Amino acid sequence: CGIVGYIGNHEAAPFLLDGMSKLEYRGYDSAGIAVYENNSIRVEKCVGRLDALRQKLADNMPVGNVGIGHTRWATHGRPSDRNAHPHTDSSGKFVVVHNGIIENYLGLKEELIAKGHEFLSETDSEVVAHLMADQYDGDFEETVKKVLKLIKGSYSLVFMCEYEPDKIICTKKDNPLIIGLGEGENFIASDIPAIINHTRRTFIMSDGEIATVTADGVWVQDINGTPISKKVFVVNWNA
Ligand code: GLU
Repeated sequence: CGIVGYIGNHEAAPFLLDGMSKLEYRGYDSAGIAVYENNSIRVEKCVGRLDALRQKLADNMPVGNVGIGHTRWATHGRPSDRNAHPHTDSSGKFVVVHNGIIENYLGLKEELIAKGHEFLSETDSEVVAHLMADQYDGDFEETVKKVLKLIKGSYSLVFMCEYEPDKIICTKKDNPLIIGLGEGENFIASDIPAIINHTRRTFIMSDGEIATVTADGVWVQDINGTPISKKVFVVNWNA
């Protein structure tokens, strides 16, 4: 179970796949990535080792500068292609990767199905993507905050939204999440080994912090919109 994200002036997919391999020690049963390619978000995922995903993409690597990736350690729903992350809402406009457990997903899922949402997986996580679509009010950040008020459990969450492709939003509770600060690029990961070849300057995210990450900067706030000024933590060890 690991999470990565990239936004910046280089290709996203190579970083995502490399970063996910650096998180392999955390264990996983499936892997996937989402990349903003040609004005839409392309999701590629499959059960098994990272090599299975690499093979799937070998002749058809997603091209784009914004992306997120996930290695899954199944808790709800068997390991399968469909249950692998990233997950999307029915429109495919909202994409999410999640480590942890959404404890109240069943009730939320029933409500969303009653509203017409179609679920493709058996995971607890998919509910978050549908909630994003359900709550979207034209403002990606505000929608994330509304969704966080609805879910209970433990999570590192990373979001992409096709309507606002210039940013990635991430947050955490009882699961690890860090941001790597680059020059004209920024990185998201569960742990430092995924980013250390790219930057040593990091924000270590705390529970309840919500980060909006663009190519040029990182803006952190709490759920009420109060800005949080993070200290840069400089990694001084070698991977
Ligand atoms: N609970 C989620 C699932 O089963 C996330 C598992 C994880 O942390 O990788 O898909």
